[in-house]
Amino acid sequence: MIHYKSNEEIELMKLSGDLVSKTIAEVAAHIKPGVSLLHLDQIAETFILDHKGTPAFKGYRGFTGTLCTSLNEVVVHGIPDHTILKEGDIISVDCGVVLNQYYGDSAFTFPVGSIPESAQQLLQVTRKSLVKAIAAAKSGNRMGDIGFAVQDYCEGKYGYGVVREMVGHGIGKKLHESPEVPNYGKRGSGPKLLPGLVIAIEPMINLGKRSIAQADDGWTIYATDRKPSAHFEHTVAIRADKTEVLTTFKYIDSVIKLDWLTD
Ligand code: MG
Ligand code: MG
Repeated sequence: MIHYKSNEEIELMKLSGDLVSKTIAEVAAHIKPGVSLLHLDQIAETFILDHKGTPAFKGYRGFTGTLCTSLNEVVVHGIPDHTILKEGDIISVDCGVVLNQYYGDSAFTFPVGSIPESAQQLLQVTRKSLVKAIAAAKSGNRMGDIGFAVQDYCEGKYGYGVVREMVGHGIGKKLHESPEVPNYGKRGSGPKLLPGLVIAIEPMINLGKRSIAQADDGWTIYATDRKPSAHFEHTVAIRADKTEVLTTFKYIDSVIKLDWLTD
């Protein structure tokens, strides 16, 4: 069952979205060679608690981090540990918060220092695919239009692997609500997008093949060909007249200042 949100609920979710966006930007300021994943996680946790929020992932089905930190071939759900960032890595930072009982969820994939051109393009294309997905996420369209937008661009134009098994999701008073939001699909197919629907759209795109596997830790999802994978996510609210993005990358962009990685 889909829980459609009232305008009041969407206003509250905007606050959750803003906090999660600022949290990732705070983390962004510390991403550089020599820093551990656990250090980034600690920064995020402190920032969220200082702003009266609650980390959403910590304790979720036993997850130990405030962030999911997914390095290189890791697609999503990487557990923050003592691993040290090194020049040339890419790292997806995925964060969820609860504020006023409502969840916000966003993710951004960062370069660590200078990275190969192939990885730069992967980040840029994955980020752009999220913009295209959001443009397709308007009232009256269907879920398949969102997935088509991502798949057509990433797979059709660039030949990247679009992960099928992991999808975006409805979000509200729960982190994961109905419906599922796949990153593949056919135009005009699937459930209709109606005002009040709030979803997390999150393309997970592999430089190589789309095949993934889960590590023995029960969480880490990685590309089986061990090539890099990128992940960008926004929480968006569909309204009758417009689609509102409740999270934002503007804080991150003003920290990282990369002219090749933009919307
Ligand atoms: Mg997320
Ligand atoms: Mg999500």
